[in-house]
Amino acid sequence: MSEIYDLVIYNGRLVYKDAVRSGGIAVQDGKIALVFDDQERPRGNQELDAGGHYVLPGLIDSHVHFRTPGLEHKENWESASKAAVAGGITTVLDMPNTHPYTDSVDRIREKETLIQGHSLVDYGFHIGVVPGKLLPLEVLRQEHAASIKLFLTGHRTARNVIDQDADLETIFRLAAHRQIPLTLHAEDDAVLHLYRQVHKLPDNLASYEAIAPRSGAIAAIARVLRLVRKYGTSIHVLHVSSEEEVDLLETAASAGYPVTFETTAHQLWFDLDSASALGTKTKLSPAIRSSRDRTRLWAAVKNGALTSVGSDHAPHSQEEKAADFGEAPPGLPGVQELLPVLLTGLERFLPELSRDERLSKVVSLLAEGPANRFRLNHRKGSLRPGLDADLVIVDDQQTWQVEAKDLHSFSGWSPYEGLTLSGVPLVTIRSGQIVFDRGIFGKPEGHSVNYAPAPIATFEQVSGSPFH
Ligand SMILES: [Zn+2]
Repeated sequence: MSEIYDLVIYNGRLVYKDAVRSGGIAVQDGKIALVFDDQERPRGNQELDAGGHYVLPGLIDSHVHFRTPGLEHKENWESASKAAVAGGITTVLDMPNTHPYTDSVDRIREKETLIQGHSLVDYGFHIGVVPGKLLPLEVLRQEHAASIKLFLTGHRTARNVIDQDADLETIFRLAAHRQIPLTLHAEDDAVLHLYRQVHKLPDNLASYEAIAPRSGAIAAIARVLRLVRKYGTSIHVLHVSSEEEVDLLETAASAGYPVTFETTAHQLWFDLDSASALGTKTKLSPAIRSSRDRTRLWAAVKNGALTSVGSDHAPHSQEEKAADFGEAPPGLPGVQELLPVLLTGLERFLPELSRDERLSKVVSLLAEGPANRFRLNHRKGSLRPGLDADLVIVDDQQTWQVEAKDLHSFSGWSPYEGLTLSGVPLVTIRSGQIVFDRGIFGKPEGHSVNYAPAPIATFEQVSGSPFH
């Protein structure tokens, strides 16, 4: 009992996905060494009073576009990682649509080299695919990437659309064989193209949604579910936006398909009515939909069908967003606002949940869910001895008005500006090091994540051969 730990955090409310308990965490060599009751508090070289606030595992944002390399006029890794830790996030998984495109293991290595020494958070990558050029995937193994990211439709910053059946068949087969999940931007390009042919250029959010309608997303889900059935590939559908997608994916998961899905904080927060005044700021891909869709997304939060919530932090410069509606690129920043928007949304849309239950939902959707899905759970996602000491102390009762001056994204704006949100991350700790403490940042010593070699569930394992 005489051991002195590197860091001891005490007087906290420790949050798990299904419980909250009082006590503290002792950290040694960057790992959680001990979870204790305060009556048995050990000594530490550094001791931190959590002040009765909630202590969560460091949050994982499995869907970000930090724009490095090649798009640094929109965002850069240093500022984005500051925004992340100020929002309680200690790990991000970055998307491949940078310049150059992250479409090979070599490109992942290049990106890691660029980022090293500039990141307050730990990081991993989703690898991209260029249509007709699948050769780089031949050397891909589980340890290289969180997933293979497919854009089934495209836009300004996502030009590599995989829409040919032959490419899709090859990728689904290869991913199943290698036991690497696919993450999907699942909107059918042909369907959306059809609408663009017939409708005039949009000049507001409603007319934009009319040319990027739910039918595009529903058609894409139907198409990929056939491929899942055929090959047993494990898929994670990104930024699900409509009631019908949730219905389809929930049903497929119940039937044993290895299918998970996420939505974003902005789709949980906005609907067409509340977003319309924001103009191009909430021009997004997929589009913001109706309040009925938002209600269904919250039901998937409540019933546990939703695996994770991503920020889809995809900043553009204010100049780019100032273009007229048809021209402005889709996407918005939001990594720093992810936790407060989710917490405030839980309060507003699921008022029947208790305070502890809201925090448990956060841990489920922003820590355990993504850690389990992307094979990080041997290191991250929970307050368990042996895992990385990635922690965040959150004052859930403190409110703040979102102002651009308090945001760290290089893009310098937020769709939430002017809103009052609940929830302030006070202290963020990565691998036992304080990386954010009430406005003061630590050292940018984040590193690449390690993926667990554990096999992911496939269709065959879940419910017999998909080929009969
Ligand atoms: Zn995205």
